[in-house]
Amino acid sequence: MNSNKPVPERMCVACRQMKPKSQLTRIVFNKAENRVFIDNTGKQNGRGCYLCKSKQCVQKFAKIKNFEKVLGFNVSSELLARLEENVEQD
Ligand SMILES: [Zn+2]
Repeated sequence: MNSNKPVPERMCVACRQMKPKSQLTRIVFNKAENRVFIDNTGKQNGRGCYLCKSKQCVQKFAKIKNFEKVLGFNVSSELLARLEENVEQD
């Protein structure tokens, strides 16, 4: 309540809500290497998007059609499995 520091917020690509970066998983697409991966450091190069660390959003994310059109890259089942591992339980 007494925090005046602005917390950097990013939009979840699934639910489109703004959330503090710490509550989101960063997914990065490295075009040069044609690789999509989870960036836990937040410092990897590439085009990124953010996803809540919630089961609902991972499931919603998995249902996005035309990933390539929406996000600019395709999402593999391996990445989805990794995202599910990243979900934080309450
Ligand atoms: Zn979300």
